[in-house]
Amino acid sequence: MRVANTKCSVAIAGAGLAGLSCAKYLVDAGYTPIVLERRDVLGGLVAAWKDADGDWYETGLHAFFGAYPNMLQLLKELGIEDRLQWKEHTLIFNQPDKPGTLSRFDVPDIPSPFNIIASILRNNDMLTWEQKIRFAIGLFPAIVRGQKYVEEMDKYSFAEWLERQGIGERVASDVFIAASKALTFINPDEVSSTILLTALNRFLQERYGSKIAFLDGSPTERLCQPIVDYITERGGQVRLNASLKEILLNPDGTVKGFLLRGANGEADEEITADFYVSAMSVDPLKVMLPEPWKQMEFFQKLEGLEGVPVINLHLWFDRKLTEIDHLLFSRSPLLSVYADMSNTCREYANPDRSMLELVLAPAKDWISKSDEEIVGATMAELEKLFPDHFTGDNQAKLLKFQVVKTPRSVYTATPGRQQYRPPQKTPIPNFFLSGSYTMQRYLGSMEGAVLSGKLTAQAISEALPVANSSNLQTLTRPPATNAATA
Ligand SMILES: Cc1cc2nc3c(=O)[nH]c(=O)nc-3n(C[C@H](O)[C@H](O)[C@H](O)COP(=O)(O)OP(=O)(O)OC[C@H]3O[C@@H](n4cnc5c(N)ncnc54)[C@H](O)[C@@H]3O)c2cc1C
Repeated sequence: MRVANTKCSVAIAGAGLAGLSCAKYLVDAGYTPIVLERRDVLGGLVAAWKDADGDWYETGLHAFFGAYPNMLQLLKELGIEDRLQWKEHTLIFNQPDKPGTLSRFDVPDIPSPFNIIASILRNNDMLTWEQKIRFAIGLFPAIVRGQKYVEEMDKYSFAEWLERQGIGERVASDVFIAASKALTFINPDEVSSTILLTALNRFLQERYGSKIAFLDGSPTERLCQPIVDYITERGGQVRLNASLKEILLNPDGTVKGFLLRGANGEADEEITADFYVSAMSVDPLKVMLPEPWKQMEFFQKLEGLEGVPVINLHLWFDRKLTEIDHLLFSRSPLLSVYADMSNTCREYANPDRSMLELVLAPAKDWISKSDEEIVGATMAELEKLFPDHFTGDNQAKLLKFQVVKTPRSVYTATPGRQQYRPPQKTPIPNFFLSGSYTMQRYLGSMEGAVLSGKLTAQAISEALPVANSSNLQTLTRPPATNAATA
């Protein structure tokens, strides 16, 4: 018997985009989900907070792409697609050897892949004709053989792949360091070829695939909250400050319940449901695995995955530094992408002052440094990005800053990782996985998280119910009993 008609209950740990998307598609399929989030804020890696002045700061500078079909569909289903502020169809790079100047790949409004080819052919700042031709030849197998070829290339780093295709070192240093850092927070000599080839393939196959949008405000309020409203209006629940402490097992190894850590000295709480989902990122899940599951090959493979460090900076200035309303690739050794959010995002708009949001990557050597050191090094880089404002007598003044460090963010996409990414369905019949690290075609991204949630909901609706209970039950147990179980 299919469970979709019986209002089966599903407990989901994690209210990042994967957990929320999973719950959204479960309520659509007639299930009753409860989402349990450890922190007091929604969104996981898209979470944002307000400072004492009421200004937002975020876990990450987030760009949406035209090649995000599942995210775009979700926004449409929620009736909030107008919250995406689409930018001009172009990719903009700083030129480190000419401080303050930019190089653009303007994508004309003609069918793909001709639009991307035209944008590459028209840019002579960053690629010579010889490099363009070599690169086009190198990309040929990916275009002809498609995703299968792209997956096979996971054994090579992108730098190795470029070398094997006879494409010069300069292409890697000029274009792909920026792309690699933006997509994965690591450099081309560390990143799997599959990542960049997947992105390139999407951009080449979809007319608006490389078009970029920004959300019109904080992801927590403008993206996550509407998903929560959708879920709760249809009978589901989303609880903050609800930290999964332990996955409790039945004697047969299936899940008996989720044990939540009691907050402020309160008793731990056991949540039971028909199905259970981990929508936590891979690092906390590995720590949480019950002992008997650790012997299983499926879960042992998770050891091959680990979150990558990244830092997100916010710098508020006393004046406008730029009018550019777009994402920029800094091509700085310290930084990855950045944007003046006072131009790109309606809720952060300010006609007189800039707020730069910048991603610092690779961050492994910086993650343990103080905020002041990180901001100091970033300000030195700004002299190259905005020489008019940071050299001479009348320099722009930094009014305040926020630094958000994420020691383990999306999975580290080094060569060979694809084989470790698990499917959403596990060998445990009532336990499923969700998260952008799980196997889906969109890598560690918001699109990947939303798609993974949808795939998990689909996998649950295909599974047989393991229990008859039709509603979530909440049991409270004294802390002493829990300690014994732990
Ligand atoms: C700096 C930065 C920039 C980025 N830029 C982009 C971009 O431009 N475009 C893009 O598409 N993607 C971008 N990403 C990636 C994107 O944010 C992630 O891929 C996506 O949000 C991951 O969602 P998730 O739900 O899979 O995981 P997460 O967001 O990590 O969610 C996991 C959730 O589980 C919760 N949790 C953990 N342990 C427990 C527990 N014990 N009990 C209960 N809950 C628990 C966590 O608190 C968290 O809320 C960026 C990420 C960062 C950090």
